[in-house]
Amino acid sequence: MCVLVYNNDSLFKWKHLGKGVITLTHIEKATDFLMQGFHCSQALTGAFAEEFGYNLKNVMKLSTCFGGGMHCGGLCGCVTAATMIFGMAFGLYDPQDKELESFGYKNADEFFYRFRERMDGKTLCREILGKDFSKPEELAVIRREGLVKKVCPHVLQVSIEIIEDMLRQQDEEGMYVRLDSADFEEIEKLQTVIRSVNKQNQFRNSVHQLVHSSDKRIGFIQFDIRRFKIINDLYGEKFGDEVLFFIQDNLKALCNHRQFFLNLRSDVFMVVTEYNDDRELMGFIQEIEKVSASYKDVKLQLAFGVYSVDDRDMEIRQMEDRAAMARTAAKENAVSNVIFYEEQFKELLYNRKFIEENMHAAIEEKQFKMYLQPKYSISRNKIVGAEALVRWIHPERGMVYPNDFIPVIEENGFIKMVDYYIWEEASRFIKKCTDIGIADCPVSVNVSRHHLKETDFIQVLMEDIKRHQIEKSLLELEITETANDEQIGQMAMRLKIDGFTLLMDDFGSGYSSLNVLLETPFDVIKLDKKFMDNMMASDKGKLILEHMVSMARELGLGLLAEGVETKEQVELLGKIGCNNVQGYYFARPMPQEDFFELLKKDRGV
Ligand code: C2E
Ligand code: MG
Ligand code: MG
Repeated sequence: MCVLVYNNDSLFKWKHLGKGVITLTHIEKATDFLMQGFHCSQALTGAFAEEFGYNLKNVMKLSTCFGGGMHCGGLCGCVTAATMIFGMAFGLYDPQDKELESFGYKNADEFFYRFRERMDGKTLCREILGKDFSKPEELAVIRREGLVKKVCPHVLQVSIEIIEDMLRQQDEEGMYVRLDSADFEEIEKLQTVIRSVNKQNQFRNSVHQLVHSSDKRIGFIQFDIRRFKIINDLYGEKFGDEVLFFIQDNLKALCNHRQFFLNLRSDVFMVVTEYNDDRELMGFIQEIEKVSASYKDVKLQLAFGVYSVDDRDMEIRQMEDRAAMARTAAKENAVSNVIFYEEQFKELLYNRKFIEENMHAAIEEKQFKMYLQPKYSISRNKIVGAEALVRWIHPERGMVYPNDFIPVIEENGFIKMVDYYIWEEASRFIKKCTDIGIADCPVSVNVSRHHLKETDFIQVLMEDIKRHQIEKSLLELEITETANDEQIGQMAMRLKIDGFTLLMDDFGSGYSSLNVLLETPFDVIKLDKKFMDNMMASDKGKLILEHMVSMARELGLGLLAEGVETKEQVELLGKIGCNNVQGYYFARPMPQEDFFELLKKDRGV
């Protein structure tokens, strides 16, 4: 709730209960405007405008016209501005409301008489200044002697004292047009926008000066908090805000007078610093990272994009954009959280834009296609299943591969739509196979981590299974393993209880630990291609692989090697007992129609 309060000096102040006091008095505000070069009527109206819900910039423009009166040696601008303020306060909107109209006149009259009295009978601009704006030679004197800045603050003060007193009276009499809370919210929003624009301008001015005055190197560092949305979802927005304040405070403490920072939006921060060498710059980044590593026991992971300025004539905004591109790359990078700008980022950014602009149409126009890659048994030389892999056939671009668009749609959540589509296609395909008597070829679908936060997706899977009347065991789920992810562990358990077959995808590609074999209820481990390649490169690796195979067997886990490309690999895998494989050596992913034919041939149907 908002109320108007008066302090002991009888000056108005705004108090927004619960959110602190905006402490600038009208006189302070008006004097500030005057010193910035606005004329007195602008300064006066500007000092009140936002309180009545008006846009400051528009009011400043509007009250420029009062300068015309002064120029002709007419009324002091404060008098005309005061009438405008009463207009803003008591607002005549209803043309029939004669009472308010006469009330408006009354206020204008009262102000005028009181003003004349306080100004010893002087009400004209030329009387007050002692010089006439409209006469060039006198205007020169006004300027030379700085008369406006000498004389007008007093006139503003007199005007404000009268206006405040009159507003207070009206308020007591209940005539004051109070704003309701919705208006205040609007005002607050407006003030927030204005404050943020001012901050951005200030930041960019300081950065501009630094870039053009420093003889050291200049670094633009943009960073954000990884998975900030999840922090907000899990702990609430209030906690999220606290985290942002915490980061701001850290930056305040870290930055010296030649290092500038700005909270660009949400969890995105920009820091600009001068530095001597890369070590110093990295040291500074590590410092930011260290002090912001956690807040109230919640770990914060920052992703940094850095642009080291190589062309000082470039616009500041462009430099920021380059740091932003590097930040986007840092977010996607699993190995390093600090990425320096490189020219090729521009292309990445265009790619991202292309995906975001085209993905909705792609679903609607069925541009996503399900490809199937067979899984083979080495010993039986038979197809034992298939993996469903999405392909995007864009009408102009042609085939777009998952690695080029999945990271983007995973970030914006659109992956859910694509997965739903593929699951449905896979279910339909399974039905098609069972209809011709092939009921032993399970199809595995990929389940993005995105689904695993909520249980909605289980419903979707269940409906697919029901609608197409297929066996649950024929629709297998591939989930990528990651370190210590409790959420995934729990969800996997839930899926297991619901009777799904779970495949752990990409085992060995990143954070694998043998613990996951123990702790999660997977049925099959899919060994990642890179892991396999690494292991097969040395005798030691081959030994590890061999032991993994026997361990999986003893644990009752199925094993499948992905990305098998050569005869040697097939032979070795066969020898150590890893019987199930998937890879180019046997077949590439293919359109579902082709796989259907292949499968029929394989089964002799
Ligand atoms: P993944 O699930 O590990 O799928 C296996 C990837 O390895 C596929 O890449 C496949 O084409 C590729 N591959 C298979 N055999 C070989 C081989 O012998 N050599 C090489 N070099 N590669 C081989 P693809 O289709 O490009 O998919 C890449 C990744 O994108 C997938 O990795 C999966 O994580 C994701 N993905 C694909 N389709 C979907 C989908 O419908 N939904 C979700 N959520 N993710 C998908
Ligand atoms: Mg997979
Ligand atoms: Mg895989």
